[in-house]
Amino acid sequence: MTPGPLLLEARHVTQRFRLPNGQVIEALRDVSLSVCEQEVVALVGPSGCGKSTLLRLFAGLARPADGSVLYRGRPLKGVLGAGAMVFQSFALLPWFTVAENVAMGLEARGVNGAARRDAVARAINLVGLDGFEQAYPKELSGGMKQRVGFARALAVAPEILLMDEPFGALDPLTAENLRSQVVDLWRDASTGVNTLVVVTHSVEEAVFLAGRIVVFGSHPGHVREELVNPLPYPRQERSPEFDGMVDRLHAILTATLLPEPAPAAPQRLIPFPRVHVSEATGLLDHLLSRPDGKGHVFELAEDLGVDYDRMSAVVRGAEQLGWVTTPGEVVQLTLVGREVMAMDDSARKDATRARLKKHPLFGRVIAMLVESEGSMEDEEVLADLTIYFPFIPADSLFQTIVEWGRYAELLDHDATAGRLMLTGAVEGAPDVPAG
Ligand code: ADP
Repeated sequence: MTPGPLLLEARHVTQRFRLPNGQVIEALRDVSLSVCEQEVVALVGPSGCGKSTLLRLFAGLARPADGSVLYRGRPLKGVLGAGAMVFQSFALLPWFTVAENVAMGLEARGVNGAARRDAVARAINLVGLDGFEQAYPKELSGGMKQRVGFARALAVAPEILLMDEPFGALDPLTAENLRSQVVDLWRDASTGVNTLVVVTHSVEEAVFLAGRIVVFGSHPGHVREELVNPLPYPRQERSPEFDGMVDRLHAILTATLLPEPAPAAPQRLIPFPRVHVSEATGLLDHLLSRPDGKGHVFELAEDLGVDYDRMSAVVRGAEQLGWVTTPGEVVQLTLVGREVMAMDDSARKDATRARLKKHPLFGRVIAMLVESEGSMEDEEVLADLTIYFPFIPADSLFQTIVEWGRYAELLDHDATAGRLMLTGAVEGAPDVPAG
């Protein structure tokens, strides 16, 4: 379908959030994006790059700190009447029946009586839930619950559906099925839904649904690139043309996720990703089994059955340890990585310990512990981490430090006493200066 007139527009939108500790997060900076009638636009990019924030601004659920959001050329005031949201978590009220859940949006808009009953019946019919009107959410499968979520959105006869990872909580088969039905709804003029904006984590989903795919980058959230997807509808997954688009999007996303090869030993104080030791060694093990010890991050994610955000975190962790490099879009096992994998467990722990002592973050924690005669309260360490990494949950970073520190027999943690300690293995100061 050819895009029609301009429907929604974000103009130089910046959005900030103030955290309880007073810190201000810039979730979006200077984002401009237009959505036209008849379009399906997918928003993709790493977690936390502001996709949901933009969707909520389009829905009129929040106002931007700077810039403006327009609907058909006019500044959006209040909630977008022409739109309806579908969320990943089904957001159903357990004590309401299917019909009552579907009616919620109508009630909020003051639609009552016969008009409400008709709209509910029509929406329930559109998503194929006839016969389940009086069922309660707990009696429904995940796929059916999400159908109720869609029916609730469709009941208000929106022209735009704004969807935030709408298939993210469903098993793959159910997701595939519902995804096709959403495309059918959009193509069927009689439903009134003519435009879709969807936030998704799945490259395949973006390529299946969207005519235009907008790739976001983070820190702060911004539009990095737009990809037009000219494949005709309905789309055939696993066709060569489809795979070609998937590859193109993968390449763009990989460049977003792994922007540049990090230096072998980072000197800046950088956080260590929330990655388990077994995930990092699992990655190395898998790379060893591949030709030349390398692979595209997306292939690796697929082979190991994890999503690409997760895979890229594992890759970043392994990279910080010098076990892999990431030239271009490829993850390459290094010589050090090969050596580490050839070692027995105890030698591998020694090598990891030596490496962690050179890592600025672990080095800082060790230096603080040395100054405190080998032991500190968790709270002190957490406070330090919060100061250096205000955007990262300090608890989670702390747990990662404890896990890796314990593995390398560098640190010990007494959860009951709430204290972090150096083990005997650390003699004197770390190999890098603190701070
Ligand atoms: P995405 O959808 O791309 O994962 P989000 O739009 O959810 O990203 O979040 C962007 C950034 O803004 C994140 O750092 C997130 O923690 C922050 N953020 C989002 N909503 C709020 C909020 N209500 N209060 C504080 N921070 C928020």
